[in-house]
Amino acid sequence: MTSPGVPDEIHVAGRWRPGRGNPLECVDPATGEVIAKITAAAPEDVDEAARAGAAAAADPAWRDLLPHERARLLTRVGDLIEQHAGELALLQTRNTGKALAETRALVGSAAGTFRFYAAALETTETPLTPQRGPYLTMSVPEPIGVVGAITPWNSPIASDAQKVAPALAAGNAVLLKPAEATPLVSLALARLVVEAGVPPALLSVLPGKGSVVGDAIVRHPAVGKVSFTGGTDTGRAIGQLAAAKFMPLTSELGGKSPTIVFDDADLDQAVAGVLYGIFSSTGQSCIAGSRIFVPERIYAVFVERLVAGARRLRVGPGTDPASQVGPLATFAHRDRVAALVDRAREEGANVLCGGGIPDDPELARGAYYLPTLLDGLPNDARTCQEEIFGPVGVVLPFRDEDDLIARANDTIFGLACGIWTRDYRRAWRVARRIDAGTVWINTYKQFSIATPFSGMKASGVGTDKGRDAILRYTRQKSLYWGLDEAPLPWAT
Ligand code: NAD
Repeated sequence: MTSPGVPDEIHVAGRWRPGRGNPLECVDPATGEVIAKITAAAPEDVDEAARAGAAAAADPAWRDLLPHERARLLTRVGDLIEQHAGELALLQTRNTGKALAETRALVGSAAGTFRFYAAALETTETPLTPQRGPYLTMSVPEPIGVVGAITPWNSPIASDAQKVAPALAAGNAVLLKPAEATPLVSLALARLVVEAGVPPALLSVLPGKGSVVGDAIVRHPAVGKVSFTGGTDTGRAIGQLAAAKFMPLTSELGGKSPTIVFDDADLDQAVAGVLYGIFSSTGQSCIAGSRIFVPERIYAVFVERLVAGARRLRVGPGTDPASQVGPLATFAHRDRVAALVDRAREEGANVLCGGGIPDDPELARGAYYLPTLLDGLPNDARTCQEEIFGPVGVVLPFRDEDDLIARANDTIFGLACGIWTRDYRRAWRVARRIDAGTVWINTYKQFSIATPFSGMKASGVGTDKGRDAILRYTRQKSLYWGLDEAPLPWAT
C-alpha cells in the first residue's frame, strides 16, 4: 500500500508530473511555513486531461463494467481513505488550518461517501415506464463523459468526494480542480483512487488559479457538466459560460444563514449549538449560522451567555487536539476578515467580543482571528447581508414570528437555517417559511450523505448528495421496443 505522502506533483491524464503552470507554494496557516511546492496546471494540462478522460470513459474496459464491478472499486477507495485517515486528516489540517477533530470527521465522511455511492450504484434500478401502446418503454441513464468538479478550500476532501464519487459511479471521467491554496489532500485522494484500481486517466487533479484552470475546465468542449462549490460571484460567472454551452451546472454557493433561538429553547443546547454553528471551522463554512436571531425578551441574558461561551473557545493550531478555533486558511483571508470587522465598526456595530487578532505571542506567526460577535446593526447593514466566511457572527433581536421571518428571509441567500425551540409546532411553521435548502432543528451543521443538499436563491442551483446524485452525472436516453408483429399502419 503506497502512502499518499505530501504530494509534489499533480495528476494529469493518468500521469504524475509537474503542471505546465506557475509554481505554487502550499502554506501552513498556523505557522506561515511552506509545506509543499508544486507546479500548477495550465490550460494545456486541462486539454490533455479532458482528452485522456474522454478516451478513458469511452474505453470498454471502463464503459462496460457492470454497476457492481464499478461499485467494488468505489468501495475500495473508501477503504483506502479509511486506512490512511490519520495521514489525510493531518495533511488537510496543515494545508487549511482546520482543527484535527474536524479534518478527521471530513476524512471519515469522504470514506463514507465513496461507500454510499458504491451501495447506491449497485442497487439502483431502471424501471420500465408504464406501457401505453404495443411497445415497451424504458429510460436509461448514460454517463456524460467528462465532468468538471470545482471545489473551495474550506473542506477539500469532503467536497471532493461528494462530486468525484457519484461522478465516477455514473461512469464518467472527472477533472477535479481544488482551490489554489489547498490542493494537497485532493492530490492525495487521487493516489488512493488510482491505487484502488480506477483507470488513472479517469481522475485528473488540476490545481491552480480559478480564473485560469477552472475557467479552462468550464469552457472545454469535452466537459459536459460542471459541479461547482464556491462563492456566489464565481458561481454566477461560471453559470453564464455554462448556459452558453447548454451545459448542466450544479452550483453550491455562499450563505448568510439565520440561526434562530426562541425563548422556550433549552438555552444550554442553544448556546453550544450557536457557537458551533458560527465558530467551528473558524467560521469558514458556507452554512455558518452567521446571523443569530434572539427574541427581545431573552436578548440580554442569552447574549451574555453567548459572549461568555465565545470568549472561552480555545484558539490555537489545528494540530493541537485542545484547539477549537484554528487559524483562517490563508493570511490574505485573515486580513480580509479583519477589514470586514473594521467596516462593521464603521457601520456602527458594537463589538461584543473578539474583533481582532489574538495577543498570545504563540499565535503571532499564524493567520488567527478571534471569535467575534457583533450587534447593534440593522438587517440591511452590509455586515448583515454579505458573507464574511470567518469567525464573525451578528446578533439581531426580534419581536415576534412575523418580524423574524421577514428579516431572516431578507437576504439574497437561502442556504441553511437553525431553529432552537421546544415547541415542535412552531419549529415546523418557521422551518417551512424560511428560504433555506437545509433547516436544522435543535441541532446544527450535522450532515448525512444520504440527505440531499442544495441552496435556494443566490445560494445555488441543483442538488448534491443523496442517492440520486449519481443520476445528476448522467444523460437520459429513452428506448421504445416495438412488440407488434404487423407493420405500423400509416404506410400500409
Ligand atoms: P471561490 O468561488 O473563490 O473558489 C471556489 C473554486 O472555484 C476554487 O477552486 C477556485 O479556484 C475556483 N474558481 C475561481 N474563479 C473561477 C472561475 N472564474 N472559473 C472557474 N473556477 C473558478 O470560493 P472560495 O473562496 O474558494 O470558497 C469560499 C466560498 O465557497 C464561500 O462563498 C462559501 O460560502 C462557498 N462554499 C459553498 C458551499 C456550499 O455547499 N454551498 C460549501 C463550501 C463553500
